[in-house]
Parts: sequence; structure tokens; C-alpha cells
Amino acid sequence: MNLKNDGTIALIVGKGNSGKGTQNQKLRDRYDYGYFSSGDILREVAKGDTGIGRIVKGYMEKGMNVPDEHVNPAALQFLQGGARHKLLDGYSRNIEQAKFLLENFGKDRIVIVNLLCSDQLCIDRASNRRQCKFCKETQVENTSGTCVFCRTEEALVIRPDDAIIRDRLITYRRETVPMIEYFREQGVTIFDIDVEAGTEATAPIIAEFLKPYFG
Ligand SMILES: [Zn+2]
Repeated sequence: MNLKNDGTIALIVGKGNSGKGTQNQKLRDRYDYGYFSSGDILREVAKGDTGIGRIVKGYMEKGMNVPDEHVNPAALQFLQGGARHKLLDGYSRNIEQAKFLLENFGKDRIVIVNLLCSDQLCIDRASNRRQCKFCKETQVENTSGTCVFCRTEEALVIRPDDAIIRDRLITYRRETVPMIEYFREQGVTIFDIDVEAGTEATAPIIAEFLKPYFG
């Protein structure tokens, strides 16, 4: 593996409210990397005057979801530039996108941090979660009210309702779990970590795992 010329593409995966965003905030103190949600990727690509950028911008301006067929080329363009090491949250989202990622970057540049916890932990944690009124992402409440995903200020106003939390758990089983197993079958390095003990206890362990990749 030649990390000097090619940065790491790390994926942080887990159930909604398993602590992906909070883990990122802890890792920020240790390593120099870019953290990007799938929304960040699309917004960044939409700023550029490229073919795919104009397509993505068109959907976003209409407030529509960018169809899957355009997400992969947008991600490819994005991942080829910018920060050397990247931590992605929300891309890849399913097996199709995972295949695309592997075909373009190879298994040695990709590592996965797989946060494992019970459904109940995610449901309990929802009590201090807020949902962004613009991008709809859920995250821990913070004093500034700024969304960590779309960076909109004073956006965290809505407590996610139980139906959203249940929906996300269903999506996790339907799309995320098969994607993780696909990566595993393809020989991608996966760090499975039980985060039931909380972010404070597990963040240093994750940081240690990422050291050779982000250090
Ligand atoms: Zn947002």
C-alpha cells in the first residue's frame, strides 16, 4: 500500500445515532483529513463548472434528490481531488455504490470503521438529537445550532420522530449491512467496533486504528 501518493478513503458506517458525527468530531483533533457527508460531496461538485456538476446543480436547485445514476460520477470527481485523506459518512450507501468505489480506487485505499450497537442505544440517544430543517440529517444538539452536515446555522430545531428513527434502522439492515458484507468479501479492511460503551470510551480506539491510514 502506497499511502504517500494515494490518500485513504475511510468510510464510517453504522446505524443512525450510532455516533458517526460525534466520532468524527473526536478524530478531528488527531488527524488531518476531510470529513464529508454525501450531501457535502454533491454540494461541492455542484459548485464546479463540469458536466456532472451542472447536472447535480440542476437537481439541487429544484430541491430534488440527485438520482443514483449521477451520484457515482459526482463522487468520483470529488474523490479524485481535495483533501488527501477523507472520512466519508453516507457514501457509499449501497452495494452498487460500493462496487463503483472499489472499481475506481481499489481495496487498499479503502478502510471501513463499522460502528456496532443495539437498536435501543440509537433510540435512546434520539432524545438529545435534532434534525436539520434543511438537509434533514439527524445529529447531536449543539449550542450554536449549526448543522454539521450542511453547515446551515440555527438549523437544528426539530427532534427526529420515532418513525424516522425506525425507518433508518430498516434502511440500515436493507442497504448498509449487505454493503459492509460486500466490502468484507472483497477483502477491504474493516474495523468492527462495539460502541455501546459510548463515544468517549471508543473514540481513542478508533483513532488508534486509523493511525496508519491518517497519520
Ligand atoms: Zn443540515
